[in-house]
Amino acid sequence: MLNIVIFGAPGSGKGTQSEKLIERYGLQHISTGDLLRSEIKANSELGQLADSYMSKGQLVPDKVVVDMLEALVSKCNKCKGFIFDGFPRTIAQGEALDAMLKKYTVKVDVVLSLKVPDEELITRLLKRGEVSGRSDDNRETIVNRLQVYYDQTAPLKDYYSKQGNLVEIPGQGSIDEIFTHIATAVDRIIN
Ligand code: ADP
Repeated sequence: MLNIVIFGAPGSGKGTQSEKLIERYGLQHISTGDLLRSEIKANSELGQLADSYMSKGQLVPDKVVVDMLEALVSKCNKCKGFIFDGFPRTIAQGEALDAMLKKYTVKVDVVLSLKVPDEELITRLLKRGEVSGRSDDNRETIVNRLQVYYDQTAPLKDYYSKQGNLVEIPGQGSIDEIFTHIATAVDRIIN
């Protein structure tokens, strides 16, 4: 199994690069943001709860997200591996993911950390907001999301760096250029 965490601030290109990873390595994509948005669309109880956090740019509580993920991982018995996109977002989620994978005697093999300066992130997210219809792609919420990223999510870089599986990827340039860096890092692991 090959388990990849794609890591980075909002707007760093996690979703875009995940699509290319799926195409090349045939892994199962798990985007907690997409999953939560489909719950919102379905107007489920979970969706209503998630929306009350997401529309403000706050994180959905760890337990809610971890339970949702655990259900998916446990269902996938013939998977070649996962791309975790937008998860983990806190140290507690990182620990929960390690514990979850350990049950199947697998682990996170590589954490691809996309590095993009704040000004570019804000520009990208505002631009996405013009077409995405996402309630969190507006200036006020974007600034909150970046703050939440630095306070709660960025500490995971240290967590994974200590485990020895963090790879920094330059997140600026063309989509294909960025993916070349990603594929080099992943191929080094599987070969
Ligand atoms: P982005 O990375 O561009 O912010 P996402 O779709 O990954 O987009 O996340 C959107 C929102 O969904 C987050 O701001 C947060 O409210 C919620 N969310 C997604 N993943 C998680 C997670 N792992 N833990 C808590 N909240 C999450």
